[in-house]
Amino acid sequence: MNAPAIPALARAPAERRGLVYPFGTAAPDAGTVAEVAPGVLWLRMPLPFALDHINLWLLDGGDHWALVDTGLGLPDVARHWRRLLAGPLAGKPIGRLVVTHYHPDHIGLAGWLAREAGVCLETSRGEYFLARALALDASPTPPPEVVAFYRAHGWREAELTGLTAAGWGGYARGVSPLPAGFRRLQPGDQLRIGGRVWQVWIGAGHSPEHVCLFCPAERILIAGDQLLPRITSNVSVYPTEPEANPLADWLESLARLQDLPEETLVLPAHNEPFLGLHARARQIEADHRRRLERLADALRGPTSARETLPTLFGRPIAATELMMATGEAVAHLNWLVAQGLARRARQEGRFVFQAVS
Ligand SMILES: [Zn+2]
Repeated sequence: MNAPAIPALARAPAERRGLVYPFGTAAPDAGTVAEVAPGVLWLRMPLPFALDHINLWLLDGGDHWALVDTGLGLPDVARHWRRLLAGPLAGKPIGRLVVTHYHPDHIGLAGWLAREAGVCLETSRGEYFLARALALDASPTPPPEVVAFYRAHGWREAELTGLTAAGWGGYARGVSPLPAGFRRLQPGDQLRIGGRVWQVWIGAGHSPEHVCLFCPAERILIAGDQLLPRITSNVSVYPTEPEANPLADWLESLARLQDLPEETLVLPAHNEPFLGLHARARQIEADHRRRLERLADALRGPTSARETLPTLFGRPIAATELMMATGEAVAHLNWLVAQGLARRARQEGRFVFQAVS
């Protein structure tokens, strides 16, 4: 059922930190495709960040391709797509387009591809509407609530000036205009693609309703950012919902992931396909629990989120990482507060946290 021009990736199993990578560190070059299971194609698109790539997955639907995730909405990525669609994928059209979550590296070209292919975007309701809302936020400078959020969490005046100087509205720049409508995916939905049935599995914490696809017959999970082998997905509180407790959602999702079979081949959005679903879910959970313990220890006196960063990360935080790091810190602090392990108070207009002994 696969196009003959597309090579199967050679098996070269390698073990690292309790996980097995069936293809070792091999990966397709940006803009090329390789087969990881019959009719399941892996392709990579470049990202202009420290994390320099995203994995996308193409499922052979017989007379069409079903695509999972799209790459960032940049001309360079669209060029790769044009080459692929005119080259190795030319035999059949994209007939389905599924997006795991609202982050620009995943949904960036969804609008463009949906229009080019004439298909309906499929994702969860939470991801679709958050993407639409953020894409409308084209203000050139951060809204006052955003500045107030970081001030309240202990940023210094120079850091707040830097935030304003850096500008705003970056989301819309990384996402091509989104389709005006979508098809909602919900937990337990079954997508019949080619000879396979894929079940929709929804997680949360990294994003509101992150879509994963699980094929029970062959035990393959298209995991998006919900389970990555070597990096930990960002779990953050944002000024859009300052009281949120995304870490509770994230830990609940990690526990629920372990209801899927351990021998599942996990196809993550970053790094390489791996085996060891339960082991990896447990590693990530343990990592958060260690951070929570360190953090609770450090909250002996009233402490702002900004002041916890050296404790939480164990290294200096660069200015460019400050927003994400603060979001992570607030996520861990809000979890401690929700568990009754810490208290939050206002002190001179700032939030301070203190452990409950
Ligand atoms: Zn993401």
